[in-house]
Amino acid sequence: MRIGIPTEVKNHEDRVALTPAGAHHLVRAGHDVLVQSGAGTGSHLSDAEFESAGARVVPTAEEVWGEAELVCKVKEPVASEYGFLREDLLLFAYLHLAADEACTRALLDAGTTSVAYETAQAADGSLPLLAPMSEVAGRMATQVGAWLLQRPAGGRGVLLGGVPGTRPGRVVVLGGGTAGRNAAEIAVGMRAEVTVVDLSLPVLRAVDQEFSGHVRTVVSSAYAIEREVLEADLVVGAVLVAGARAPRLVGDDLVARMRPGAVLVDVAVDQGGCFEGSRPTTHDDPTFAVHGTTFYCVANMPGAVPVTSTLALTSATLPYLAALADGGVAAVREDPVLRSGASTRRGTLLNEAVAEAHDLPW
Ligand code: NAD
Repeated sequence: MRIGIPTEVKNHEDRVALTPAGAHHLVRAGHDVLVQSGAGTGSHLSDAEFESAGARVVPTAEEVWGEAELVCKVKEPVASEYGFLREDLLLFAYLHLAADEACTRALLDAGTTSVAYETAQAADGSLPLLAPMSEVAGRMATQVGAWLLQRPAGGRGVLLGGVPGTRPGRVVVLGGGTAGRNAAEIAVGMRAEVTVVDLSLPVLRAVDQEFSGHVRTVVSSAYAIEREVLEADLVVGAVLVAGARAPRLVGDDLVARMRPGAVLVDVAVDQGGCFEGSRPTTHDDPTFAVHGTTFYCVANMPGAVPVTSTLALTSATLPYLAALADGGVAAVREDPVLRSGASTRRGTLLNEAVAEAHDLPW
């Protein structure tokens, strides 16, 4: 199969969907790999490395999208890419369609078959293609939050770890899944006081065990969230209902009563955000103020650390990309993980949560 790897076009999106090692694997399996010139530059992967791995490097996005039967990307197509979508194209990427009606409609109008990384689910309920980026975003969330809490950055002026004789900063993590646990891990490492809030008792039990009691665990409810958030210096929003729009857990009225200079990092903004005031921001302009607090809502956080993220992401996606390249659409039917990621096909929506989010038939 002809597999295309375009250069990412979102703001500060320096990841690439395939490494030279991955290209080598696919070429050895008999596939033709086209990489847009410069696609790997942001991740310090040169055209020459892709070429020596057997890929064909082509100058433009038009050539990659136009020649490829299967396009593998990191992020969902943006408006400037909608014109490349077509019916005989298989697209494999993060899509986050529940938060993106325009992209949903573009895929449906073009009749493209699309498989989303973030809804591909393994038999144990885990999300193997979302997990590596949730690990990155979760760890970054605490790092970014710690920076934004500093006074010159507009924050409260709290050092998350405190020093002897002072109280450490309070971090509240909403959602104890992959992103949430990774945020908690860095916060504990910084010696903050950490609370993880989740709906699921098994998740809270796992958090309790993992951190040997160094993290407080709280069952999620509107009441509990209000109490925790009012005491917090840093709130990390990391909840997910797979495929669906994120539940709104922190209203603007609650934010208005938070500590002045507190920071809210909405990792879940790619699924629409779990704070009422959230709107997607970019790495160029990542924050905005809401009632005296700072919101950070970058929808592609891992794009800022592409050397780490590209390797982490492609290690997870390559086996599935190889299966798609070998089997085409049949692989989507046969592999339950890929089937759960299937989002659109020939103008039909295949994901109920996305249909509900946009009031579309499925
Ligand atoms: P996950 O499925 O591993 O964990 C989500 C957790 O949220 C689960 O434990 C679930 O029980 C919990 N949850 C659901 N509803 C809840 C509620 N009402 N109250 C409390 N907890 C609730 O998901 P994940 O992989 O950690 O991903 C979390 C979010 O981070 C997703 O939206 C994902 O798309 C996003 N993400 C964002 C970026 C970014 O750059 N902004 C990068 C990677 C992942």
